[in-house]
Amino acid sequence: MAKRGPSENYVLTEAEREALLRTCKDIQERVIILLPLYLGVRVSEAIHMDSRWIGDTGNLRVPSQMVCGCSGCAERENNRGHWVPKTKAGAREIGIPGIVSDDLSPFLAQYPRGLQMSRYTFYRHAKRLMKAAGIVIPGLGGDTAYPHVLRATCATMLAAGGMNAPQLCFHMGWGDLKVAQKYINKAAMQATAPAAAVKIFGG
Ligand SMILES: [Zn+2]
Repeated sequence: MAKRGPSENYVLTEAEREALLRTCKDIQERVIILLPLYLGVRVSEAIHMDSRWIGDTGNLRVPSQMVCGCSGCAERENNRGHWVPKTKAGAREIGIPGIVSDDLSPFLAQYPRGLQMSRYTFYRHAKRLMKAAGIVIPGLGGDTAYPHVLRATCATMLAAGGMNAPQLCFHMGWGDLKVAQKYINKAAMQATAPAAAVKIFGG
């Protein structure tokens, strides 16, 4: 079996990101891509997000737990019947860039309960869209974590935009500064990343 490198080592280029969004046919497909790509949320967060997660401030508030009837949460060993973030650091409040809220706001107005799909369905949509956009992830074969490449791209862009390790940990919901530092080091090697980050997330 071919050994695959960590997907966080691959970052989508601006051309790939644009191709991916052009491939989306409707607002649900755009939300599936935009949530991990420009908000950096985990798949588990994206599929559980609903209109209650948007606070008065317009930020995204990932709760520390919520009652959930999905099969994934029903099978959980601890906190059965509840959704909880992957880590304690996962409960956080983060700003939503305009490129996301332009689609997320009308989507949640129409579907207040959010995407309401399984992890498997989310992966299937994300992989199909990335394939249709002609995106090939070097070193990834078979059943791979494509949505994670979107989240990794977000982390790299945020690092390139000037976030320090604690800020990046807070945004991404990581409990370990070493993870953030890896993205900061990687962003420093990408000459065009800072300008792209400012364009998306502001200066
Ligand atoms: Zn659930």
